[in-house]
Amino acid sequence: MPSQNCLSEFDPATCALLLDVDGTLIDLAQHPDDVVVPPDLIDDLAFLHERMGGALALVSGRTIGVMDRLFKPLRLPASGAHGAEFRFDPAAPAIRAVRGDLPSTLLERLTALARRTDGLLLEDKKVCIAVHYRDNAAAGPWLRAEIDEILEDMRELALSVIAGHFVFEIKRRGHDKGTAVSHIMQRAPFKGRKPYMIGDDVTDEAGFAVAPSFGGYGISVGREVPGFPTLFSTASDVRAWVAATASRHRVAA
Ligand SMILES: [Mg+2]
Repeated sequence: MPSQNCLSEFDPATCALLLDVDGTLIDLAQHPDDVVVPPDLIDDLAFLHERMGGALALVSGRTIGVMDRLFKPLRLPASGAHGAEFRFDPAAPAIRAVRGDLPSTLLERLTALARRTDGLLLEDKKVCIAVHYRDNAAAGPWLRAEIDEILEDMRELALSVIAGHFVFEIKRRGHDKGTAVSHIMQRAPFKGRKPYMIGDDVTDEAGFAVAPSFGGYGISVGREVPGFPTLFSTASDVRAWVAATASRHRVAA
């Protein structure tokens, strides 16, 4: 069990940061395109990425292309779409860990579902599809049953669904934030460092589970997760810690 004070042990020379984006670094919005990335956060992440010898990565359900747009001009090492995409060198293009897009038949079924349901928003990330229902919050259990039925009809595709904050993410089995953290931690400059994986949602738990096998920590934001400490209440608290950590090391530099 990680100690409650693992943040006090954080050392940019020997640790790695693996950070979820939505709800962890930035506040959630009603629509995923409406999120705001504070300029100070971009500056602080850029500084820490440099100060940590590059061992700071974003690990998100967003695609890497979208993350680049949100954090512009900063490009960081990243895994996108729940471990379906990777980019280890920020100057390089993203590479896929999966073969091909999800089949169009799946998108057609989900589009038909969205057409006959109020308040759904489909986000087609090609290698996974997010069904957002924040505008129809009560639809959750019914929607999950509908999605499960579609996946059962298409079981030869070996798909899985993960539930997040008012979103169901449909993707192939075999990749998640756990495989993402594992791949990242086996590559320079992350290899041999102690990972701090910070996330706010159910999808992050697979990443938390892997962090201890690399000597590190899974840290939850705003939710109780058995076996992992909740050291931040909100994304604003995470940003304050990132800012304080950057500030401390700016002074020390
Ligand atoms: Mg999140």
